[in-house]
Amino acid sequence: MSPAEEIRARYDAICAEAGAGVTVVAATKDVSLEELGVLAAAGIEVVGENRAQDLEAKHERYGDAFRWHFIGHLQSRKARVVNACCELCHSLSSESAAQRLKIPALVEVNLSGEPTKSGVAPEELERFLGLYPDVRGLMTMPPATDDPETSRRYFRRLRELAESHGLKELSMGTSQDWRVAVDEGATLVRIGSALYG
Ligand SMILES: *Cc1c(COP(=O)(O)O)cnc(C)c1O
Repeated sequence: MSPAEEIRARYDAICAEAGAGVTVVAATKDVSLEELGVLAAAGIEVVGENRAQDLEAKHERYGDAFRWHFIGHLQSRKARVVNACCELCHSLSSESAAQRLKIPALVEVNLSGEPTKSGVAPEELERFLGLYPDVRGLMTMPPATDDPETSRRYFRRLRELAESHGLKELSMGTSQDWRVAVDEGATLVRIGSALYG
């Protein structure tokens, strides 16, 4: 199989197992500008970028090939690029970014309390939701783990928080734990390494 066929086979397997209500977002922070052509050839539909600078360059080259999401830490001065390129930002978590962003967004919630992680604290969520007019749901990144089951309580908590605020979209689960995330109601999973082999 060609590299594109291999990625397509992994993507199809994940989509089939995740089910129709789940959007598989290919996380592309480690995919170079050249390599992104392989994802386009594979027919990947939605890509998620972490850095605005990479987003801009990749979007310029492959704008029509994908639907674009932003999944990285959003700095307010980069919001312009995200507004111009993306249909959804998964990672809104600062007041200054909320003032500049203009597209549908998910609020990133820091459920583990790890100080190195971005995200709004759960007890701040209520107030934060009032700052942005177009919040569609929530996103979280649990701690790195070898045991996917350790992520379950974070995913469940995110779902409960979303439900209590009437929010539908749940961006949760990466290569390490997407099956558990889907089990807990994820509507978007963000997958990198498991797609590229
Ligand atoms: C890199 C990244 C992913 C994908 O992680 P993998 O372990 O490669 O699947 C998902 N979400 C975010 C925010 C990321 O930065």
